[in-house]
Amino acid sequence: MAKSAFLLNVADLVGRDASPRPVVVAASVDWGIEMSVVDPEVEIVADLILHPVSGGVAVTGAVTYTTLDTCFRCLDAMRTERRASIGALFDTSDDDDESYPLVGNEIDVEQLLRDEVLLALPVVQECQKSSCAVVRNVQVDLETVTADDEGESRSPFAVLKDFLESED
Ligand SMILES: [Zn+2]
Repeated sequence: MAKSAFLLNVADLVGRDASPRPVVVAASVDWGIEMSVVDPEVEIVADLILHPVSGGVAVTGAVTYTTLDTCFRCLDAMRTERRASIGALFDTSDDDDESYPLVGNEIDVEQLLRDEVLLALPVVQECQKSSCAVVRNVQVDLETVTADDEGESRSPFAVLKDFLESED
């Protein structure tokens, strides 16, 4: 298996008085949540800067990626370009809450990027199609009718009843 694109050698930075070093990480991934997955056909691209800090390496920058989303209302598919900012510390401490691991002279930014990519996804996807807005308005109408005590006369059944009676 090829070496992971996410594995970065930072021997030139750790414990040294070095200048921050830019690096670009690009890879195809299959990360996602229920209604939104990263398009496996489009590589995510992380523009990162690696900074030497006491005890490790700080990583800043941003990741751009494309997701295939499903509208929660009409279930239509959408494609969305997204961007998430990155800021994290890699060090040799055991505190996983504060930092990611620095192992030997390497850092693996996969977990960091996965965390930020998934965190940036909205829980609910909503398309902007006018046909979807129609569905939304119908939903609002139904909720209004249901919430209204006087709603019976305006319910679809009442309208139908009026219509049938007017036929006589
Ligand atoms: Zn929709």
